[in-house]
Amino acid sequence: MATHTTRMLIIGSGPAGLSAAIYGARAGMEPIVVQGLQPGGQLTITTDVENYPGFREVIQGPWLMQEMQAQAEHVGTRMMWDTIVDIDISGGSPFKAIGDSGDEYVGDVLVIATGAQAKWLGVEGEHALSGKGVSACATCDGFFYRGKKVAVIGGGNTAVEEALYLTNHSDDVTLIHRRDELRSEKILQDRLFANSKISTLWNKAVTRFVAGENGTLHHLELTDTVTGETSTLEVDGAFVAIGHAPATELFKGKLPMDESGYLLVEPGTPKTSVPGVFACGDVMDHTYRQAITAAGTGCMAALDAERFLAHRDFEKAKTRA
Ligand code: NDP
Repeated sequence: MATHTTRMLIIGSGPAGLSAAIYGARAGMEPIVVQGLQPGGQLTITTDVENYPGFREVIQGPWLMQEMQAQAEHVGTRMMWDTIVDIDISGGSPFKAIGDSGDEYVGDVLVIATGAQAKWLGVEGEHALSGKGVSACATCDGFFYRGKKVAVIGGGNTAVEEALYLTNHSDDVTLIHRRDELRSEKILQDRLFANSKISTLWNKAVTRFVAGENGTLHHLELTDTVTGETSTLEVDGAFVAIGHAPATELFKGKLPMDESGYLLVEPGTPKTSVPGVFACGDVMDHTYRQAITAAGTGCMAALDAERFLAHRDFEKAKTRA
């Protein structure tokens, strides 16, 4: 069992973690990134990416993450193929983390970039048709359904926002909800009901995603949650919007979180309540959840980490003098 020591320990290898690494490495913090269970994060399970600045042509999510990782390594980041299973931040800096491999990681600062994952329904066809008509992100994929017929599944703020967003591309959006009332904020509901491009299907659960002859989504199978009657709905695209789950299990009881499990930070900063521990990307952001915003907060975490260490080193030097 080895111990790996660094100025900057980063957990998570999506856009937030890798951006923190790029900035941290260039600031001389010789970061270690522990990649986690899904190296590269959520973008590795999407296909076409058209909204990440700097690329005129459509790029692929997995390719973008490979490039980000290569850039991080090029400037001096050490990537570790491991998953953190335990963490000790109780004594302040340095912070200790234990990997699934049994290795120990020690960092003067800790950057948490463990991300979040869209929740899925877990019904037949959903996984197989992911990227072929089934998506969990309208902002990412809505553009590919312009002029087509789409459905959104869910009844919270995300679902309503996604349905409204999709009307930029489609005149035929159906919101499918398992109950007969939405849980989203009233202002969003008002906008939804006022929008003639959106229709609603109440008390319907999607029980199956079915492909057409070309292998992409053709229709949804629905079951009425009150009567049990079954029906179908033909759509080109279906957006599952039933919430996201942040990957914060490791930090329960160790760092403050909101009721949905997102890490709480000082507003407008990546600072958690523990000095030297920073959170960036989807693990602390349930509102925007974009690769570009995650990368932005990753950069902020690295800049604040650098300031934290500079301040600490200065204070130590003063004490010694
Ligand atoms: P929510 O948990 O608020 O809503 C999830 C929705 O999905 C609910 O309507 C729920 O139904 C439905 N659902 C859950 N599981 C299933 C299932 N297995 N089958 C069918 N339907 C299911 O998640 P959101 O992502 O909408 O929001 C998360 C948080 O982020 C909230 O606090 C929200 O307010 C916030 N948010 C804020 C935004 C803003 O302020 N602009 C934008 C987006 C999110 P049911 O109602 O029956 O439980």
